[in-house]
Amino acid sequence: MIFMVQDSYDVIIIGGGPAGSTVARYSAEGGANVLVIDGRDPIGSPLQCGELVPTNDEMRRLCPDVPDMDDLFQTPVHAISRKSTKMHIVPPSGKPLEFNFDGLVLNRVAHDEALVEMAKQCGAEFLVDEYVESVVENSVKLRSGKSIKAKIIVGAAGHSDPLRRDYWDEKSLKIPVKFVLMDGDYGDAVELHFGSMAPGGYAWMFPKSSGANIGLGIQKSFSRGKSMNKYANEFISKYDGEISFRGAGSLPMSGTIKNFVKGNYLLVGDSAGMVLPSNGAGITIAMVGGRIAGQVIAEHLKDGVPLSDYEKRWNKQMGKVMRNSKRSFKIGSILFRLPDSLLNILFNPLTRGIIWRAVTCRRMFWIF
Ligand SMILES: Cc1cc2nc3c(=O)[nH]c(=O)nc-3n(C[C@H](O)[C@H](O)[C@H](O)COP(=O)(O)OP(=O)(O)OC[C@H]3O[C@@H](n4cnc5c(N)ncnc54)[C@H](O)[C@@H]3O)c2cc1C
Repeated sequence: MIFMVQDSYDVIIIGGGPAGSTVARYSAEGGANVLVIDGRDPIGSPLQCGELVPTNDEMRRLCPDVPDMDDLFQTPVHAISRKSTKMHIVPPSGKPLEFNFDGLVLNRVAHDEALVEMAKQCGAEFLVDEYVESVVENSVKLRSGKSIKAKIIVGAAGHSDPLRRDYWDEKSLKIPVKFVLMDGDYGDAVELHFGSMAPGGYAWMFPKSSGANIGLGIQKSFSRGKSMNKYANEFISKYDGEISFRGAGSLPMSGTIKNFVKGNYLLVGDSAGMVLPSNGAGITIAMVGGRIAGQVIAEHLKDGVPLSDYEKRWNKQMGKVMRNSKRSFKIGSILFRLPDSLLNILFNPLTRGIIWRAVTCRRMFWIF
């Protein structure tokens, strides 16, 4: 069905990934007239992801202040490749510490398509294959030359978001990430690897129903001149299946920026730094932020609720988890400069509780 883009909307959302589609879903559900603009067609392709998310139960444990997870996360069965119940945290020695972890390894493309569908069902419109060049006052300027107005403009375009680029003067640490999809049988446990194989970051192996998603991210300042490609090839070549897909991207790893709202502009998802740095979780966290932003936008348009309530509600729901995650990442960044031989000693049954608390964004010790 071809739809006619109007000249103006209540809300324009730049980017229809997990963050943007979720803002669209909740603001449209609350009565707003919403347009999402995305440069890709279809949204979500090509794949740029490790594809692991916690189950709803695991999210309740990780983020206890976020309400009503089952309304927010309605992952359809066809978007789930495999359920996992174990996580292995693997030091350089290769001898894993094993933890119970309820995770879903997704078919991420199908997952993002389902979020777009949910937003459409609530009444949001989508304009795809159209890049946003810039935003000037209330106008969103498209690469095709068209310009569309909105009362509220949301930047949900990830690390290259045009609103963030032009109106926020805050730097975030971004780590480059590479991954492959590989054929083979890799068991049930998801694996996170730490050490010199992924300096300042981590490597992963997430088993799918068939094959696995395998990749890593590094901090370039830790890499001692060795290229990202070399790190990626070395880690990936430990597994010996056929590679059916190669992808890359970048992850914001310094946590959320100070303010998400400036006048009638809002940022959400990766553009606002909504990734938990201690474990790289961005999909579900972008959706938590997206729901809050969407609800506040709808209440603002209907009842004049200030847009700054978005930041207040975020801090209430996610502030503690994000602070703990940032702290763990900073401590981890120092620890992971240590030689592998020392890391092998540090990852032991006595420290496993502390390591698990760090990865799951809780205070590592009772004092910090
Ligand atoms: C390689 C890799 C592996 C990852 N693995 C995991 C994982 O296993 N689990 C996890 O939870 N998170 C993972 N993440 C992080 C996760 O993918 C992000 O945190 C999440 O996608 C953030 O959602 P978002 O909607 O903010 O941004 P995105 O998903 O990046 O969506 C942004 C959208 O904006 C569009 N866009 C960009 N610029 C413009 C423009 N100028 N005009 C119009 N549209 C535009 C893009 O086309 C895109 O559709 C990974 C990230 C990478 C790069």
